[in-house]
Amino acid sequence: MTISQLTAKQQKALEDSEYLWKQAIDGTGDGVYDWNLQTNDIYYSPRWKAMLGYNEEDIFTEFNSWVKLMHPDYLQAKTETLQAYLAGSIPEYEVEFPLLTKQGDYLWILSRGTIVSRDELGQPLRMIGTHVDISLRKNMELKLKEDRDILALSQNIANLGNWSYAPRTDTIVWSDQMYVIYGINKADFGHNLGALMTLLHPDDHLLQRKWLKQLAQPLPVKDHLVRILRPDGNLRYLKVYATVEYTADGQILRIIGCSQDVTESILSEQKDLVHLDQLAHITRLGLMGEMATGIAHEVNQPLTAATNYASALKILTTVAEPDLEKITKIASLVAEQTLRAGKIIHRMKAFCQNQNTSSTSTDINTLIKECLLLCNSDLKKHNITLNLALADALPMLLVDAIKIEQVLINLIRNSTEALTINDNPTKTITLSSLMLDENQLQIQVRDNGSGIEQALQEKLFMPFVTTKTEGMGMGLSICRSLIVAHRGTLTFDSQPGLGTCFYITLPIPENLE
Ligand code: ADP
Repeated sequence: MTISQLTAKQQKALEDSEYLWKQAIDGTGDGVYDWNLQTNDIYYSPRWKAMLGYNEEDIFTEFNSWVKLMHPDYLQAKTETLQAYLAGSIPEYEVEFPLLTKQGDYLWILSRGTIVSRDELGQPLRMIGTHVDISLRKNMELKLKEDRDILALSQNIANLGNWSYAPRTDTIVWSDQMYVIYGINKADFGHNLGALMTLLHPDDHLLQRKWLKQLAQPLPVKDHLVRILRPDGNLRYLKVYATVEYTADGQILRIIGCSQDVTESILSEQKDLVHLDQLAHITRLGLMGEMATGIAHEVNQPLTAATNYASALKILTTVAEPDLEKITKIASLVAEQTLRAGKIIHRMKAFCQNQNTSSTSTDINTLIKECLLLCNSDLKKHNITLNLALADALPMLLVDAIKIEQVLINLIRNSTEALTINDNPTKTITLSSLMLDENQLQIQVRDNGSGIEQALQEKLFMPFVTTKTEGMGMGLSICRSLIVAHRGTLTFDSQPGLGTCFYITLPIPENLE
């Protein structure tokens, strides 16, 4: 039976019931539409119109009326879905799109619909459906997507990826940029610790395990530098930062972190260090040149003493009854003096060499005393009193000893020169070593020389700043670079006319065991 075959009473009852369900849906806040596909007439409920800011009086009676409101970017997709549904190729009609409001902005709508009547051939005659305002959810989704896109873009620009690791399940989750950094596809990564270890440089496996062990302790987490090997053999340096999340019972829930590919800056740092090495060597040779006469004198003294002792020995051995005790004593004095001369020559040789030196475990007090072997002649020559205030039981430092010696000799020589300028009768240089705090050790070089004028203090570490007629003004600038290369600092304070103190602060290496 078609609608036209209904009695007037049946028709009225049907209209009443339709009115009621349309009212009911409208009351829930969703808009209703009722589309006659034969005439193309369409009914929009008051809520449907109000949702878009229109009044009851605003006339919408044609199917095309909402087509005009559609955002052009979504029209084609929406039309195709509708046609597919009407043709029966998809079981449901449900689509999201923005519609133009009366105020001129777009409102996100979720449109659903169902065919409620068909002709004898099964062709759709009538379709009814609802419109739901989903702007809040959609705008949040879009904002989230925008934030994700910005995050991905910034991760790409900074070559930085984020990750998390859940120890309980041994599961690693990576952001997209992590795969780019490691040069692998998502499908090729096992997403567990074992799989990660295979991507690290073999020499850094121990380091990585130590770091993970450190993370398991309730201490502040330090960042960490690790090398990875990409499948194409490319070696990359990653700076890794992490934080730990705990469960209520204090177990590690997961470690969250990010890894940044810092290869370029590490390589350029290494290149800078090679340049610094070369420059340091040239300036060491310069220093040695300046000090050569004094050092020759310093070597000459024990050699002269040894020669004198040897002559004495000769005399003592020619007598009828040689005094063996005396001879033994003088023989050991000969050995002592030649050893002293040998030590100075050895230090001088080590100082002049351009070997690719590296950091070794060093006792800073011994290093200070060895420096003095080369500086003593200068100090004596200028009548300078040297005070040593070396703290006991200092921890060993991990330093390139020749470079630190070079800095010390430079500072001692600058002090020596500053002491020759003013006429202070008690010329003094004090070398101190002390613990600054549990992480840092300090060496101080203090003099009561001329001091440094305020204007000069401001540019003291700049290259080519000098007050000496023969000076290059490179010494302090190189000294500072050498200390910075050891992750330390070189600072000073000075009172014009009274004296200067330079402070070398160096980090104490961590014991990662
Ligand atoms: P140079 O010794 O070739 O001048 P430096 O960089 O070693 O180069 O020193 C720069 C300048 O800093 C010196 O010329 C001197 O004026 C000043 N200076 C450095 N150390 C001291 C010091 N202990 N007392 C006074 N002046 C100093």
